[in-house]
Amino acid sequence: VTFHTTILGCGAALPTKRNNPSSQVVNVHDKLFLVDCGEGTQVRMRDLGVKFQKINHVFISHLHGDHYLGIFGYISSMHLLGRKPDLHIYGSADLEQLVRINLRLSHTFLSYELIFHELQFKTPEKIFEDRTVEVVSFPLKHRIECAGFLFREKPLPRNVKKSALKMYDLQPTEIVKLKRGETIRHISGQQLTQDDACEPQRHSRSYAYCSDTAYNEKMVETIAGVNLIYHEATFLEKDKKRAKETFHSTAKQAAMIAQKARAGKLLLGHFSSRYSNPDDFATEASEVFPATEIATEGQTYLVL
Ligand SMILES: [Zn+2]
Repeated sequence: VTFHTTILGCGAALPTKRNNPSSQVVNVHDKLFLVDCGEGTQVRMRDLGVKFQKINHVFISHLHGDHYLGIFGYISSMHLLGRKPDLHIYGSADLEQLVRINLRLSHTFLSYELIFHELQFKTPEKIFEDRTVEVVSFPLKHRIECAGFLFREKPLPRNVKKSALKMYDLQPTEIVKLKRGETIRHISGQQLTQDDACEPQRHSRSYAYCSDTAYNEKMVETIAGVNLIYHEATFLEKDKKRAKETFHSTAKQAAMIAQKARAGKLLLGHFSSRYSNPDDFATEASEVFPATEIATEGQTYLVL
C-alpha cells in the first residue's frame, strides 16, 4: 500500500538554480497531503504531474517565507481551476490572517471553502485523522513558532489467509467477524480465532517531517520508532555556531536525532546555498547515522 513523500523543494531561504524552498507531497494510501509550500511549489507540482486538485490538506510548519510564500499562488490557482471541495490549512493563526487579507484586497471570492486549523505549537497534538492515517504536530525549536508533522498509518485490517478460506469454506459474514477480531464457531463445530485464520498484523508505518529547528531532543519521544525522518540540515558541523545562532541544525545534529529516535532512515534537506556539494551533508551525517540520504527535488522516497 502506498506511503511515500515527493520532494518539491529542499533548499533553505533563497530559491537557487539548484533548489526550490521547502515543500513536499506526502502520499498515504493515495491520499495526498501538502507539507510546506515555498515559492515555486505549484510549478514543481506541474513539472512532476502531481494531481494537486486531489490535495485537501495543507500543513504549514511556520511563517518564514521559504516555507509558505507559495500558498497564495496555490490557493489562487485552485480557484482559477474551479475547485469545489474544501481546502483545509493547518498553521499559525497569523497564516489565516495573511491569506484572508490577500483575498480581501484582491476582491477574490474563492470557488471553494478554505478551512483553517490553528496549531498551538506547544505540545504534540493530533490535528488530523481519518480511517487510514493520523497526523500529529509537534513543537520544534526555531526563532518563531514552528511545528513538525508526524504521519502515522492506522493499523491495516488483517486479511484472512487463503489457506483458511479454502479449508473452512468461510462465508462472507464469518470473514467480516474474523477480520474484526471475533472468534467464530465453524459449521464443523470447531472454534476459529483471528490468529488461526488471519495473516499476521502488518506494522503501521510512520513518517516525520522535521522542518526548521535547532538541535531538539524533545521531539524524539514523539517520533520514536519512525520509519523515515526528514530533518533539516541547513549547516555543516564546521558552521555549528551559525546554526545555533539561527536556530537551525547541522547534518551531524540531524543524524543524532535520527539515531536517538531509532529511525529507519534519515532524509536530509533544507540545505544552505553557501555549500556547493550536497554530498558533504551525507558524509557528515553518515558517521553518526549510516542510513542517511540527501533529499533530491523531484525524487520520491518510500516509507518502508
Ligand atoms: Zn525558518
